Amino acid sequence: MPTYQYACTTCGHEFELFQSFSEDAITLCPECQGEVRKVYSNVGVVFKGGGFYKTDSRPASSGE
Ligand SMILES: [Zn+2]
Repeated sequence: MPTYQYACTTCGHEFELFQSFSEDAITLCPECQGEVRKVYSNVGVVFKGGGFYKTDSRPASSGE
């Protein structure tokens, strides 16, 4: 059974849950009922402020 780690975006509370794939992911912090996000311990997913940037690698198109 996979282990999911969550971190609250409101109070910073971190916790782990054992859930099967069929169970719904929780979205509320048990401490403050704030919004939580999943944390993947082995993957460094970092959302930096400012949004996304398009890469300047357009495929060469004919014309112009
Ligand atoms: Zn919280």
